[in-house]
Amino acid sequence: MKHNVLIIFFSILSIAASAEQPTPKTMRIDYFHTGNATQELFSLDEVVIEPKPWAGNLNKQIDTIPRGKYIFEVRDIESGKLLFSRSFSSIYGEWETTGEASKVTRTFHESLRFPAPKKPIEIQLKKRTYVKPFHEIWKIEIDPNHMFVNKAQPQFDGEVFAVMENGDPANKVDLLIMGDGYSVGEKAKFKTDVKRMSDALFAAEPFKSRQSDFNVWAVLPNSQVSGVSRPSTGVYKDTPLQLRYDIFGSERYMLTLDNKSFRQIASNAPYEFVEILANTKTYGGGGIYGLYGTTMANNDWSEYVFVHEFGHHFAGLADEYYTSPVAYSASPKLDEPYEPNVTANTDRNTLKWKDQVKKETPIPTTWDKKAFDEHSYKYQKKRAEIRKQKLPESVMSALFQENAEFETNLFGKNKYRNDIGLFEGANYTATGYYRSQQNCIMFTRIEDFCHVCSHAIEETIDMYTDTKN
Ligand SMILES: [Zn+2]
Repeated sequence: MKHNVLIIFFSILSIAASAEQPTPKTMRIDYFHTGNATQELFSLDEVVIEPKPWAGNLNKQIDTIPRGKYIFEVRDIESGKLLFSRSFSSIYGEWETTGEASKVTRTFHESLRFPAPKKPIEIQLKKRTYVKPFHEIWKIEIDPNHMFVNKAQPQFDGEVFAVMENGDPANKVDLLIMGDGYSVGEKAKFKTDVKRMSDALFAAEPFKSRQSDFNVWAVLPNSQVSGVSRPSTGVYKDTPLQLRYDIFGSERYMLTLDNKSFRQIASNAPYEFVEILANTKTYGGGGIYGLYGTTMANNDWSEYVFVHEFGHHFAGLADEYYTSPVAYSASPKLDEPYEPNVTANTDRNTLKWKDQVKKETPIPTTWDKKAFDEHSYKYQKKRAEIRKQKLPESVMSALFQENAEFETNLFGKNKYRNDIGLFEGANYTATGYYRSQQNCIMFTRIEDFCHVCSHAIEETIDMYTDTKN
């Protein structure tokens, strides 16, 4: 009898403990990642306690679906227990594959965020190439009680607001939409843009069905100027987030390299994922797994770019397209990529998405690649010519529209248009890399993700929510 009472007593205690698990603070490790094509070096900038508590799911601290080039692991030094891990990709990770990395050494600022520990921890940063195992590239010990852990409230001149609130940040995916290049008089425009982008995201499956698993927040730092930098057309603007086009020499690639400002400004809201809106109309954007996505706000294709780049940032999806030029290099040896939606494997028994392939679907799967390629390479030439001649953005938008119509018509004729199979051409490579379906938002300018991409997105949602285990 006494025994039973004790058991009941203990189980009540454990329920109470889990219900009242206090929300930890958010710790951020800021560091410099320096190197070139042959070597890399890490150095600590500072350890920060962000003003907002940890927004992640305390029941799911270990990354079970690593999708990036890197993973970091946080361990309690005393017990050796793994407390937290998260996979991500970085701008440095792309830059080191560009031609510039064989000529110069550069430094990029990066951050790792995780629930603030009470006791000393060891952080291990690991890297991988293609599907090879992760290996350690940096290790550092952090004492959370050291006086140099920076707890200052960062200065912020701007506005923070909720766009869509569905519950406690700990059990929701917290998406933060930030604005750059919105002058003080353009605040109302930012609000309209945020709503438009958020609506576009939740109109696309699987985000549509999982909308209640998300909170959406917005942060707008005040900018003295309107628009963002575009060096290829001689436009330079000092904006709060320092977004700019022409990253790695690619005119449409828009990122910010000012990670410190980005992190300081973002820390004013709860967030796990970020998309930055540039108050500009030239087509462009970018998306890095676990860092942020970017898009131009004032273009006919803004909503499409917002959702496409979010696919990279949120679920680590690869580009399925291959006819437009990019600065970084794909594997010349056709190594198997770690991204869930592209492959070099042509064996139907071991294929990443083998469970979704029907017996009657041929592997590789037939599609009119010849007609697509012929049209697409011509269209890419026209696209480059429009930029070279500095023609109005409306000319570019019209070309995209005409191209989309050609693709819809061509793809509609294929018997296997709805099948999951193995379609050649993906990952910036015309032959040897494959995608799972004929079309997807990661391939052309359509609104839908393919089944494989949708599944990958759902897995990420599950890692931040308690909807499914
Ligand atoms: Zn896809």
